[in-house]
Amino acid sequence: MTPDFPPVPFNRAAPAPDFPWPNGAKSALFIGFDVDAETAWIGNTPANADRLVTVSHGGYDGRVGIARILMLLDELALPATFFIPGWTALAHLAACEPILAAGHEIGHHGYLHRRPDRGDIDAAREEIDRGFEALGQALGVRPIGYRAPSGENFPELMSHLAASGIRYSSSFRDDIRPYRHILADGGPGPVEIPVNFAFDDWNFGMSSRVDPRPLFGRDAILPLWIDEFEATHAWGGVTTMVLHPQVSGRPMRWHLLRDFLRYVQAKGDVWIASGAEITQHFERMERMAE
Ligand SMILES: [Zn+2]
Repeated sequence: MTPDFPPVPFNRAAPAPDFPWPNGAKSALFIGFDVDAETAWIGNTPANADRLVTVSHGGYDGRVGIARILMLLDELALPATFFIPGWTALAHLAACEPILAAGHEIGHHGYLHRRPDRGDIDAAREEIDRGFEALGQALGVRPIGYRAPSGENFPELMSHLAASGIRYSSSFRDDIRPYRHILADGGPGPVEIPVNFAFDDWNFGMSSRVDPRPLFGRDAILPLWIDEFEATHAWGGVTTMVLHPQVSGRPMRWHLLRDFLRYVQAKGDVWIASGAEITQHFERMERMAE
């Protein structure tokens, strides 16, 4: 039987408020990295644990990707948020510690990158709790930001995130400006810093035997990113990037990312901020509007 769905929007959050960005900026750029490492390959497909070459895509994070990304951010003096699955923080501690030492924000990205499934709410909650635990144990941090592994969410999970101290989520694709979620009980949920799917590097830059996709190079990606950024800038939105060191930390893509970030930086009227900074700004504007 086809289920019947009540004819109401799935996301009940009010429209994004129209507040100004700090320092007279016309738009914002949120540079987010998902440091999946091997979890991208084993979290939803445990059989890949016996495929060392397949999971070695993720191993690139710890050996090369994270360090190269940190070099780039240091060179351009830019802040970023690194959403790290708990497993990654434990398994690649030596690669992850410099993220924190460089002053970047650490966000929550599950424990083993398991896609939250409403059919097993307890498992989804446990993935959150274990992620917090591992990040605390490995890096001594308690993140306030969450990006859903494999980009999913549901009401019970959103409530659990809010109760666990998550102040912002960066997963939804339904706006170009931050807004505040409404929880199932009608109470205020986390702020959403919506992502722009055009800035998910996995779409264009990752392919494997088990997940074959076409690859696109500079001529396709740089104009796409600049066009999408310019249009978002004109509309005063936030350009939220979903980057992966195992993709954008590879040589050609690293240079491509550097060229894009330099382009945005050169505009001079873009607020480049971490997820926590954008959330703090949103909360401040919200209080002022009360
Ligand atoms: Zn991820």
